[in-house]
Amino acid sequence: MGKVLIIGAGGVGTVVAHKVAQNPDVFTDIMIASRTKSKCDAIVKAIGNPAIKTAQVDADNVDELVALFNSFNPEIVINVALPYQDLTIMEACLKAGVNYLDTANYEPKEEAHFEYSWQWAYKKRFEDAGLTAILGCGFDPGVSGIYTAYAAKHHFDEMHYLDIVDCNAGNHHKAFATNFNPEINIREITQNGRYYEDGKWVTTQPLEFHKDLTYPNIGPRDSYLLYHEELESLVKNFPTIKRARFWMTFGQEYLTHLRVIQNIGMARIDEIDYNGMKIVPLQFLKAVLPNPQDLGENYEGETSIGCRIRGIKDGKEHTYYIYNNCSHQEAYKETGMQGVSYTTGVPAMIGAMMFLKGLWKRPGVWNVEEFDPDPFMEQLNKQGLPWHEVFDGDLEL
Ligand code: NDP
Repeated sequence: MGKVLIIGAGGVGTVVAHKVAQNPDVFTDIMIASRTKSKCDAIVKAIGNPAIKTAQVDADNVDELVALFNSFNPEIVINVALPYQDLTIMEACLKAGVNYLDTANYEPKEEAHFEYSWQWAYKKRFEDAGLTAILGCGFDPGVSGIYTAYAAKHHFDEMHYLDIVDCNAGNHHKAFATNFNPEINIREITQNGRYYEDGKWVTTQPLEFHKDLTYPNIGPRDSYLLYHEELESLVKNFPTIKRARFWMTFGQEYLTHLRVIQNIGMARIDEIDYNGMKIVPLQFLKAVLPNPQDLGENYEGETSIGCRIRGIKDGKEHTYYIYNNCSHQEAYKETGMQGVSYTTGVPAMIGAMMFLKGLWKRPGVWNVEEFDPDPFMEQLNKQGLPWHEVFDGDLEL
């Protein structure tokens, strides 16, 4: 049915490639392209399907991307490189007439700041070109927005309070490691927190607010209020929401390491001079930290990510909690990657599947919650991320 080009051969790219290859009725031609071609070749070897093509590409370079798109002619690009490449890849998609999907919103390299405005600015150009761009189709952002859309469609007349809760109760047996690209991860966590209340954004100190939340099959875990990109689109697309927040669990050991990293200047993203060479401390740190792709083998435990929602149905107040638990070991057995890469890569594949089946095909630039959630939810159950619901339970929030 469709030709797909995956850009990025990291943890998430590896999972996307495995899942795309598992669905040959939808994805008939596959190419993986990244900065380092040998990593793409290693993925093809692991999958064991030599029909999958690979290529080298610098996704910061629009001309190189356009040349690759024109030679392979994909219908859709799944961008699982880094958020820095979102705009160059979108630009190339417009030039070559290719549809687009990603899992993280654009972030300039020199400033740890992410928001949708840069990508939403492409809406008219994608519309005029008759091309679809699907933004933020991982787990969070991604499934978090689809869960919210599903709740709005089936369980509420008005949603008032939304809390997205993200727990990683896994243990990788390393003193300190991040679960996805360390540079992007540390930039995200060390920023100020932010949440939405009564039409305004409230800013907090980094990790200022935290509380114990109970996760299914896991138990209570200290959860910290962070800013997360899907809050921006969800409060816009569901204007009855009065308050929207995002919570993520961190262990004390992780937070202590993070504090030390910041205090000694290793989280800096500006260039410093070292022996006549310019280096960015956070990029140097990434080079010495464990590679998130190597965590899978000894990773125990599971992730639990969901949405806790309070609102009105038929004049009465109700609560609703929808979540998925994902085992790191099961993810590793299937794809060679741990649960965080798995929970991101599976939804990215399903989003591309929705597009190729014509179910999520609409010229313009869209966040996932703007499409029909039902066929996506059906696929989550079939593709390894089953979901569960709790009606009228205690949300703790
Ligand atoms: P990795 O660092 O493991 O992989 C990134 C890949 O992109 C690498 O293969 C890298 O190449 C490649 N790459 C980087 N720069 C370029 C470039 N200029 N040109 C071509 N290729 C490039 O990251 P992850 O797999 O952990 O994460 C991938 C994406 O998924 C990120 O954007 C991240 O923010 C997002 N994400 C989203 C989540 C969600 O739930 N929505 C959760 C987790 C991650 P090389 O190997 O040569 O360095």
